[in-house]
Amino acid sequence: MEAEQLNHNLLLFKFQSRRDQQEVLEVDKPWFFEKQLVVIKSITGDEALSQVELTETPIWVQLFDIPLNHHSNANVKSMATKAGRFLCFDEKGAAGWGKFVRARVALNVEKPLRKTLSIRFKGDLVIAISYRYEGIPNFCYICGKLGHLLKECELKKEESNDEEVLGFGEWMHASLRKRYSA
Ligand SMILES: [Zn+2]
Repeated sequence: MEAEQLNHNLLLFKFQSRRDQQEVLEVDKPWFFEKQLVVIKSITGDEALSQVELTETPIWVQLFDIPLNHHSNANVKSMATKAGRFLCFDEKGAAGWGKFVRARVALNVEKPLRKTLSIRFKGDLVIAISYRYEGIPNFCYICGKLGHLLKECELKKEESNDEEVLGFGEWMHASLRKRYSA
């Protein structure tokens, strides 16, 4: 593998084989460098490097509290899409009795992480689906974005230091327990 630094935060890698490339691209968890997310994109070589957008990273998201009657592929896919561009479910699919469903999405790293989704079902019943992210780097608990922590957030006000008033939190880091464990 060859690497070339294009600017202070942009690197170009050239792989000798497609297998090597796949080993880097098809990992379950995002890549990190010094605790920062590394956004990776495969290019063909026909594009202008200045126009390659590095805004998405694939990640496994866990969706909790989906009512049993609403586990159709289409339903859960639309819920997963709220976290990012839908890629696939894991081998268990969208159905089932597990505590959560795992979906792989391309997360837009410039947007706040999705934490919950309120869905109104028949009548006035409102269910809040919650989202947890596997292998997510540290993110800001004030604005929900990656790339900085709450003490560096531009939305920070003195009084918002209190963790109880923050909308986002450590709970959104998914544990990597098996789906069916207690
Ligand atoms: Zn922030």
